[in-house]
Amino acid sequence: MSRVLIVGAGLTGGLCACLLRREMAHRVHIEVWDKARGAGGRMSTSRSPSNLFCTVDLGAQYITATPYYSRIHKSFYQELLMHGIFKPLEATVEGMSPMEQGTIHYITPSGTSSIVKYYLKESGAEVLFGHQLTHVYRRGQCWEVHRKEGLPEQFDVVVLTMPIPQILQLQGDIGSLLSESERQKLEDVSYSSRYALGLFYKAGVQISVPWVAKYVSNNPCIRYIATDDKKRNLVSEEFGPSVVVHTTFSFGMEHLEEATEKVQTIILQELHNVLPGLPEPETIKCQKWRYSQVTRSVTDCPGQMTLLAKPLLVCGGDGFTHSNFDGCVESALKLFEVLKSSL
Ligand SMILES: Cc1cc2nc3c(=O)[nH]c(=O)nc-3n(C[C@H](O)[C@H](O)[C@H](O)COP(=O)(O)OP(=O)(O)OC[C@H]3O[C@@H](n4cnc5c(N)ncnc54)[C@H](O)[C@@H]3O)c2cc1C
Repeated sequence: MSRVLIVGAGLTGGLCACLLRREMAHRVHIEVWDKARGAGGRMSTSRSPSNLFCTVDLGAQYITATPYYSRIHKSFYQELLMHGIFKPLEATVEGMSPMEQGTIHYITPSGTSSIVKYYLKESGAEVLFGHQLTHVYRRGQCWEVHRKEGLPEQFDVVVLTMPIPQILQLQGDIGSLLSESERQKLEDVSYSSRYALGLFYKAGVQISVPWVAKYVSNNPCIRYIATDDKKRNLVSEEFGPSVVVHTTFSFGMEHLEEATEKVQTIILQELHNVLPGLPEPETIKCQKWRYSQVTRSVTDCPGQMTLLAKPLLVCGGDGFTHSNFDGCVESALKLFEVLKSSL
């Protein structure tokens, strides 16, 4: 049995674990580590502290399948539709950019993190949250990995799927494994930054807006608003409604280093101007996405970069493709190819 560590319980890590398990069930022991308290990464679904059924997607909102990706990733779409993880988006989203004819949008009734949770469950991997990788050292034919708290452990293979700046922050032997040109490629990658606000309401509150989601144009702060429960087609009276707000990238950049509470106040003030009749929420969650979506991905390494072949240390994620469902599937497939030939 080879011991494989996948760092990152986001879509790339979750799907990579699932593919590995399906093809090599009896040859690998898979552990997935994530520094967060739950699965999803940037496909994050947050719960109201006072009503566990009231949820909001703070990161990815819906999955957009162009005709090309519907075809080449057909099996992934079919499987998620068959298990009820995906449902076609029925409502119109106001202000959405026109898409190529034949493009389909999917929503996730249980939130976008349900995609990742599905793959992690399928993988049978041991998933450990609150495990932040800090150092990676080569020890003969193994990797010794250190985390923020706890004892070092050894693995035969390590797969890194976090945003690239977080890979570059790792200490130990990683720095010396990178050639000058590889380091440059990784350093050249850029991400947008933005804030997301989740507003949770008590059951029975009505949010009266004529859309389920809307792109706001010409506002320096707010780019997107959705009544998240309606977007996901939830109809139960027991769930309070929820609203998600995304800021513009320029607002995200401008306020990146400010205290989150202060930024939350600014967004709420602006939201009041855009939607004056919006009721007071019961609770609010403000999320800073320092690494939101990739604006420039790694050149010439589509899907993955192998830092060392033996023992295998490989990195992937949307930084090696593009920031959406298909970008992560593409990267997970490339990671899987490398793992398969190495194991
Ligand atoms: C606001 C927003 C809106 C978006 N909208 C859409 C959309 O509508 N449709 C769409 O398809 N995509 C959308 N995306 C993009 C999509 O969410 C991402 O492309 C995708 O989730 C990336 O998945 P990943 O697994 O590659 O990385 P991530 O989801 O970032 O997963 C990496 C994981 O690594 C963990 N990690 C980081 N460092 C460490 C460490 N040292 N140790 C342990 N764990 C660590 C993180 O906690 C994280 O869980 C959006 C993203 C954002 C932020």
